[in-house]
Amino acid sequence: MSTPLAHIAESVNDAGVHGRRVTLPGGILDAHGNRHRVVELRELTGADEEVLCGQFESATQQVTAFLTRAIARMEGWPAPIDARLVDTMLIGDRDYLLLRLRQLEVGDHVHEVVRCRARDCAKKVDVEFLISELPVRQLEVLSEHYVVPLTDEQGVRHLAKLRLPTGADLAAVAPLLESNPGAANTRLYARMVQSIEGFDTASEEQVRGLPMRLRTQIGTFVGRHAPGPDLQIDIACPHCGGDMTYAFDLRGFFLSSA
Ligand SMILES: [Zn+2]
Repeated sequence: MSTPLAHIAESVNDAGVHGRRVTLPGGILDAHGNRHRVVELRELTGADEEVLCGQFESATQQVTAFLTRAIARMEGWPAPIDARLVDTMLIGDRDYLLLRLRQLEVGDHVHEVVRCRARDCAKKVDVEFLISELPVRQLEVLSEHYVVPLTDEQGVRHLAKLRLPTGADLAAVAPLLESNPGAANTRLYARMVQSIEGFDTASEEQVRGLPMRLRTQIGTFVGRHAPGPDLQIDIACPHCGGDMTYAFDLRGFFLSSA
């Protein structure tokens, strides 16, 4: 009944890397509830690069296809790595593998040119950082479901049973992400939430009707506990001092900053 805690303690560099053996910040549970998190990565070839440049229905599907090729094996996992397994990986684990592959194949150093968002400035700014400096949140306890206490307007507690979002969840909400992030959240929560005391959550329609206060608490839980690298690059414009914080683009960076 307790809520396992994640913690931010490690960077990409010291999060358990031995050559091409990589320890996922989350991992995958097998049918017996055993956690598997050590992954061996293949050396990439031109064929992999072509997958990265190819046309896919969504960015999520492209990442799945790419990672399915890149993962040679997972320690203790009895079956071959296929797209279905990669789809069940937590979003942060997928992000982490993309980062590690970029570090292995292209290098640790990232150089990007970003334009200041302030309209009266709009100057180009060079951004440089090391992938090994990005913080990675490790998940202490990987569980099929987490029990999260949600509090309603009257201060009454409702225990929610939910899981952390996966690549398959991301693929399912992808068509809605740009057009309506609220609808994307509804679909995501409908997939993630197994139950909430005092509420029906079986359908998307029922999840849409949940009080905003409860939905926000679900989002906060995921934001605080889902494992993976922190991809937010915090910078201020050196010309005008304006905030230029942005999210590092994991898919594009293989091609852009060699
Ligand atoms: Zn500026």
